[in-house]
Amino acid sequence: MQGEPPVVVLRLGHRPGRDDRMTTHVGLTARALGADRVVLAGDASQARETVADITDRFGGPFEVSLVESGLSTLREWDGRIVHLTMYGLPIQDIEGEVRAAHREEPLLVVVGAEKVPYEVYDRAGWNVAVTNQPHSEVASLAVFLDRLFEGRELDREWVDAEREVIPRASGKRVEPAENGTEREVEGGADRDAGTRTDPGAETGSGGTTGTRGDAGERGDVNPE
Ligand code: SAM
Repeated sequence: MQGEPPVVVLRLGHRPGRDDRMTTHVGLTARALGADRVVLAGDASQARETVADITDRFGGPFEVSLVESGLSTLREWDGRIVHLTMYGLPIQDIEGEVRAAHREEPLLVVVGAEKVPYEVYDRAGWNVAVTNQPHSEVASLAVFLDRLFEGRELDREWVDAEREVIPRASGKRVEPAENGTEREVEGGADRDAGTRTDPGAETGSGGTTGTRGDAGERGDVNPE
């Protein structure tokens, strides 16, 4: 987050097709919950496009990059490293130590997909478990970032957004962002979305406005 040493998320082990949606969600979660950048290793161009598109529309600053080898990113990292794994030490026991380190230095947060090479465990300053139960890289990243930032990420401000969501108890409202520019996109519902209230619509893929197609297995995200 702005004014703090950078937090970069490294997503290792992307399997094209099978992991598109998960990798996209790692990127979106990193962006939404306060990280500054996500590095996607392997052939994750679909996920990169989706995360970049969401950043264009809903603001940043946030960067997404692709690398051939995540291990090279890990080896060259100048800062501290956290690896999220079910085999690690409980997050509640070491979060204070990680927070203190991050006040001084950049932090790389590594999440896997398939089996993670032993070198990652070895290079990490902390192997961190969000419970010692198997679940998901998206869930563990979300909990980790929230503990790292102690909730400050929830009040984060976005710059260069084209549009912003106006919180509502019911229904949904999206307006052109005050500090950004509205962009015309395909689909009538978006074109006249200057100020739009749609109490019947759902958020997420397959929502009733359906302006950006079906999320399905392609890894797309439709926040409309
Ligand atoms: N057996 C794998 C492992 O090494 O943890 C599980 C793979 S899991 C499908 C994909 C990723 O989710 C892991 O690489 C890890 O980053 C994350 N993950 C899953 N469960 C976790 C937990 N309890 N705590 C922290 N991270 C977890």
